Amino acid sequence: MLFDLHLHTTLSDGAMKPADIARLSKEQYTGAGVADHISPYQKIRDEQSFAAYRKELLKHDLLAGAEICLGPVIDISQESLSSLDYIIGSIHALFFDENLSLYFWDDRVRFPNLQYLVDHYAKTVVHFLDTAPINIMGHPTLLPMFMQSKGIIDPFSDSQIHDMVAAGVRNKVAFEISSRWKVPSERFLRECARQGAFVSLGSDAHTADQAFNLDFPLQMMEKTGIDRGQLFVPVKKTR
Ligand SMILES: [Zn+2]
Ligand SMILES: [Zn+2]
Repeated sequence: MLFDLHLHTTLSDGAMKPADIARLSKEQYTGAGVADHISPYQKIRDEQSFAAYRKELLKHDLLAGAEICLGPVIDISQESLSSLDYIIGSIHALFFDENLSLYFWDDRVRFPNLQYLVDHYAKTVVHFLDTAPINIMGHPTLLPMFMQSKGIIDPFSDSQIHDMVAAGVRNKVAFEISSRWKVPSERFLRECARQGAFVSLGSDAHTADQAFNLDFPLQMMEKTGIDRGQLFVPVKKTR
């Protein structure tokens, strides 16, 4: 069975209830993993809100995951986080020093040195793959929106792609192929195929019409020669 492991609910910023997702999952013969946002800027941000989130998910026939923001300090213990079935870590902002950070959806941003940004991005991916206790890297190589609007889609060098994929392989972290953001690139996924990296499928759906739409990731797997055996399948820990 295939799994959509990146679904948002009303427990963070989605429009579906966990029960809606459980029902859709049965109707579509596709496994479901809820991965609501955990971040200082979202509803699930401390032990109390985390416990309520976990408890709610356990009532349903779903995998219980989360999408944590890589970078900001989160006030939830590692022990609590690892009680979930799996953790997605996503880069939504880059931090350069304590005075300079770049949130990807900030459209007022001006960043003159794009080469420096791309370099910092690739190093940040490797850093979090090596240090963050995550199972999946969410929408890897998703660029800040201002770069996408300039038509910059895949600015990484071959050696940067090689290093990012190698870090996923050595830490056994899967790279998500995202229906919503159409990342990572074909070049990146060919390198995943070559190095035997794990991948996962995610719609990043916030509404029912987006949920379980895995056409893009499945086509990309096919096109780049990634074997179904490379799909990350979480083990259900939560009962
Ligand atoms: Zn995300
Ligand atoms: Zn998401």
